[in-house]
Amino acid sequence: MPANKTDTIRKTWRAATTLVREGTQRSGWFETSEALYLNSGFVYDDAADAEAAFAGPGKDARFVYSRFGNPTNAMLEKRLAALEGAEACKVTASGMAAVFAALACQLSAGQRIVSSRALFGSCHYIVTELLPRWGVESVLVDGPDLAQWKTALARKTDVVFLETPSNPMLDLVDVKAVAALARKAGAQVVVDNVFATPLYQKPLELGADVVIYSATKHIDGQGRVLGGAVLGRKAWIEDKLVPFLRHTGPTLSAFNAWVLLKGLETLPLRVAAQTRNALAVAKRLEKAREVARVLYPGLPSHPQYKLAKRQMKAGSTLVAFDLAGGKKAAFAFQNALQTIDISNNLGDAKSLICHPATTTHQRLPAEEKARLAIGPGSLRLSVGLEDPADLIEDIDRGLAAARKAR
Ligand SMILES: *Cc1c(COP(=O)(O)O)cnc(C)c1O
Repeated sequence: MPANKTDTIRKTWRAATTLVREGTQRSGWFETSEALYLNSGFVYDDAADAEAAFAGPGKDARFVYSRFGNPTNAMLEKRLAALEGAEACKVTASGMAAVFAALACQLSAGQRIVSSRALFGSCHYIVTELLPRWGVESVLVDGPDLAQWKTALARKTDVVFLETPSNPMLDLVDVKAVAALARKAGAQVVVDNVFATPLYQKPLELGADVVIYSATKHIDGQGRVLGGAVLGRKAWIEDKLVPFLRHTGPTLSAFNAWVLLKGLETLPLRVAAQTRNALAVAKRLEKAREVARVLYPGLPSHPQYKLAKRQMKAGSTLVAFDLAGGKKAAFAFQNALQTIDISNNLGDAKSLICHPATTTHQRLPAEEKARLAIGPGSLRLSVGLEDPADLIEDIDRGLAAARKAR
């Protein structure tokens, strides 16, 4: 059996096996775990070898500089592509670098982007402020409302960008229906799949062209590193994305790629346990008198539960809810917590809570917050790996404080 058997055996692996084994490329030392190639450059046998490395075709068969590619990053790219069922993947320094590169590499002045309104804060900035400054027409629609997509996509469009479930209130976009409208409008569909994780939703199978991750979230999932990924067709990645990345340099550190490779090995275990915990927490919140509304795609009370069933394999590791007592209650709830941390990260082993109206979405004008249903009492909870009984005890402490604060 060759030491590099992962590269020689035909792949019929299921997700869990893929996440432990796909992409492993052993060095001459035949190490068990993926090696960390923490180097910026590469050397050549002679001048002709260097010339060949820089000339096509097959020029990407050899690493020439870590801004362009690195063996550790390449292992991560191979593993992520196999999990997603994508032809190709490029990793980036952060999720935002992935979003920006995927949009900027293909949009030019005079073109048009249609996007769902409920976006991660920095995505909102790129779509509504940065791209328009460069002459790209930007149109926002309410993601769950197909009629608005239909109207916006009645005109020729170049890119459609959406996030589902959305941050922070977990509304859903029907990816299949929007992709069909986008196709007619001539647009590439880019989906930010962070909240669903690559395990629970397959945008490419639903008709999307490009999928994006912040690997900072569930893929690391242990609060250590930033990272991002863009996945799609080989031709698009090579012709549009790679030149943009090579020449602008949002490169993922090989160290971070190595941490993310290790993170992927336990992704299915962590996400399954966090989803179980999230469901238990969502059910507890649903019963509480202090809570006006719980939004969890895995519960029948979610306004788009049928769509969640159709396009997602399971709920989510996140729960959004509104406290009846507004900002006072939301602050009292957070301040009473002894286990769950107040933090704006998500997908982490540690349960984290944030108040979007005053943190992640503070910048948004009041009427935009209202349109997104981000109220003064809204909280977003990312459920971690703690014992669910401890989490529910903590939630009960928060609820008691919210009751007193009214
Ligand atoms: C966190 C996040 C991003 C940005 O990722 P970073 O790694 O923080 O740059 C983009 N989209 C969504 C939905 C996110 O949650």
